[in-house]
Amino acid sequence: MYAKVIVDVPAKQTNRAFDYEIPAALRKWVEVGSRVGVPFGPRVLQGFVVELLEETQMDTKRVKPIQSVLDLVPPLTEELVGLGRWLSRMYLCHEVTALQAMLPAALKAKYERAISLGDESGEQSLLDLPDLQEIVAFVRAKGTVPMETLMERFENDGSLIKQLLSSGILMEAQMVKDRMTAKKALTVFPPADGRSLEEAVGMLPARANKQQDVLRYLIEHPHAIRLTELMEAVQVGAGTVKSLADRGWIELREVEVMRDPYAGRSFARTKPLPLTEEQSSVFGEIRSAVAERRHEVFLLHGVTGSGKTEVYLQSIQECLDQGREAIVLVPEISLTPQMVERFKGRFGDLVAVLHSRLSNGERYDEWRKITRKQVKVVIGARSAIFAPFTQIGLIIIDEEHESSYKQEESPKYHARDVSVERAKQHNAAVVLGSATPSLESIQKTMRTGNGEKPPYRLLTMKERVAGRPLPTVSIVDMREELKNGNRSMFSKSLYKAIEERLQKKEQTVLLLNRRGYATFVMCRTCGFVSTCPHCDISLTYHQSSRMLRCHYCGYAEREVKQCPNCSSEHIRHFGTGTQRVEEELGKLFPGIRVIRMDVDTTTEKGSHEKWLTMFRDKQADVLLGTQMVAKGLDFPDVTLVGVIAADTVLNLPDFRSAERTFQLLTQVAGRAGRHEKLGEVFVQTYTPEHYSVQCASRHDYMAFARHELDIRANLDYPPYHRLILITFSHEEVPLLVRSAEAFVTRLKELAQEQMNRPVDLFSNMEPSSESFSMDVLGPVASPISRIKDRYRFQCVVKYRGEAQASELVGRTAQWFEERSAKEKLQISVDVDPQFLM
Ligand code: ADP
Ligand code: ZN
Ligand code: ZN
Repeated sequence: MYAKVIVDVPAKQTNRAFDYEIPAALRKWVEVGSRVGVPFGPRVLQGFVVELLEETQMDTKRVKPIQSVLDLVPPLTEELVGLGRWLSRMYLCHEVTALQAMLPAALKAKYERAISLGDESGEQSLLDLPDLQEIVAFVRAKGTVPMETLMERFENDGSLIKQLLSSGILMEAQMVKDRMTAKKALTVFPPADGRSLEEAVGMLPARANKQQDVLRYLIEHPHAIRLTELMEAVQVGAGTVKSLADRGWIELREVEVMRDPYAGRSFARTKPLPLTEEQSSVFGEIRSAVAERRHEVFLLHGVTGSGKTEVYLQSIQECLDQGREAIVLVPEISLTPQMVERFKGRFGDLVAVLHSRLSNGERYDEWRKITRKQVKVVIGARSAIFAPFTQIGLIIIDEEHESSYKQEESPKYHARDVSVERAKQHNAAVVLGSATPSLESIQKTMRTGNGEKPPYRLLTMKERVAGRPLPTVSIVDMREELKNGNRSMFSKSLYKAIEERLQKKEQTVLLLNRRGYATFVMCRTCGFVSTCPHCDISLTYHQSSRMLRCHYCGYAEREVKQCPNCSSEHIRHFGTGTQRVEEELGKLFPGIRVIRMDVDTTTEKGSHEKWLTMFRDKQADVLLGTQMVAKGLDFPDVTLVGVIAADTVLNLPDFRSAERTFQLLTQVAGRAGRHEKLGEVFVQTYTPEHYSVQCASRHDYMAFARHELDIRANLDYPPYHRLILITFSHEEVPLLVRSAEAFVTRLKELAQEQMNRPVDLFSNMEPSSESFSMDVLGPVASPISRIKDRYRFQCVVKYRGEAQASELVGRTAQWFEERSAKEKLQISVDVDPQFLM
């Protein structure tokens, strides 16, 4: 037997599978998706098994054996291994990088596998088998056994061990260095030898009433129970339980427990709400796709407050009723307790939650709940799309337009596209939900000229639940304010509106887009700005630590008191924009209670939740913040939303800036008046006539989308053309420029050859009905022309007809890497970039 293995060396030369022999002893363990240790050159490296073979095409004398298997149960499924191949082709990354990206961080660190005893109480029937008893006894005696030891000792019992693992009697756990990442707790078990507890009660002396209470409790509840829970339930000390264990009446052992980031919090169970008319017609469509196990992608365009979440919840219920599993993606920023509560409240312990604020250990445990099938629903940020479920029926992506669904480092995947690919494999439905769908998605719901069925199906909810009106939006022209002598950052009308809310004890959300505001240090005499000595970018001022930092390379220096250029002392440290707004609020409304949420106030674990809870409990009048206040919040007393300056995103040199402005305005406006009380929104701007501001104020998504799509079509921008951004970097400019130009020349040559040839080389990709065209722009200096002392150049490939262009870029990149390996030139490829920087 042989295995094809992708080895952990991310380089073009090794971006293919190598054949290894599977030694007899390991045969039971090696599966597609297993992580294995394999000799590679002089070293032993980690690899992933991607295929099992009867024969190898290679010279058998040169085929080396697999040395070890790292997991008893493969961490990746066959489907995920296939997905890795797809990712590597689609996003032009190394296959091993794609496979690694699907694993939780605990599995990427230094590792060693260990086995310990789990919970034997559930599966008595299995334990009746003598062979199994022997294995269990061996593990019990040792406490924790390295996996290799167990496999050596029970060489022929591989499948039994597997059975024990999958039933939870044995547990496998990752040892990171010498620390177990699995957590343990003392647990009480009923007697193993079948002794009767009733008998035991009788044998205890009458004064040992506490001990009797414990036994009676166990008679009534004949399951294993955490020691602390038992102590709580019977109101006894640990000593009482231990003395029973000493007498042999019960067993007390350490058992692995899952860290539960939501332990101790109870989630009130909720029942499905009776749906509104719009909700039920949308739900009906999703339900029938799920029920018929039909792969279909729905784009759910529902205005803010239209009750999309309830539709998600009931669709998931349908999926669970069929014994299938569901993945829900939400942007990191909206993984608030509120959102988690809604899902845990409906599905309780069947829900695993994955977000970046979990510790590695917590993440690992949540992930194992998935592999063990203890949960059926995963809710998480971008990477939760790789949840190793095997029976997916439904994938939901909430706020599908969010740019955070695109990963910025390799593999530079977009979770939306990955979800569609996975759903195809599972015959599952996908629901992309948003009040402001991305232009890419809305365009996919439209018919093209050739009359083919569009790839996505549009579902619409135009009304808020219970007939609540959308808030009225007023555009405030800040140029007029200035003409009338108002130099404050608050217009007269916004000022009045805040004042009114303070009187009525209602709440206000204020949005400031941080990017438009200065956080740098500038000399007011000569205009000098502190920049990073290694990167072409100004340093960011951190008020709390009084340091200047580079956000690209981490370079830091103390704040300066004197201008390094002209020695003037008129140095101005601009804090974050939100700090300035906070100060001004304090001046205008003495005693006002403001919660400020921005990067500075939300770095600590849990701080995000803390602020939101405080706001919900009405401990503040105003929630002031950056984009993070625009997302998903649902507070009944928020009746006013103010946007301090709508233009800040609009002025960025990016073809998506109008789209981002529209999205942001619509989302933040959606926070107002979601319950009984009416909402009001003020948008302050210097460009009130801009269509993105106008359409947002009228809540008219479709008008915006049509206008913007026209513009994109005229300029050959996405979604009509697609882009690949290629960035080159090197310490020396001349070499960099020469190489970038060589790349472009080569790519154009290949494209020319391609166009002269009939195409059917790419039969493994979807046939594209569009005719292929490709344009290469650049090379030019990148907008940030130097990072970490390396200069940067970029070119942008604009194309139609997807398979060919990425294939061509991939081939050129390979040619380029082989040619320039010794020059230390770096090249990075970003397919469908979200930002052209
Ligand atoms: P969206 O995600 O579309 O902005 P939500 O899902 O947050 O909207 O729903 C808005 C509010 O309406 C929530 O408070 C929710 O509990 C409530 N809601 C949703 N569906 C119903 C329904 N069918 N009946 C009553 N209330 C509902
Ligand atoms: Zn720097
Ligand atoms: Zn100066």
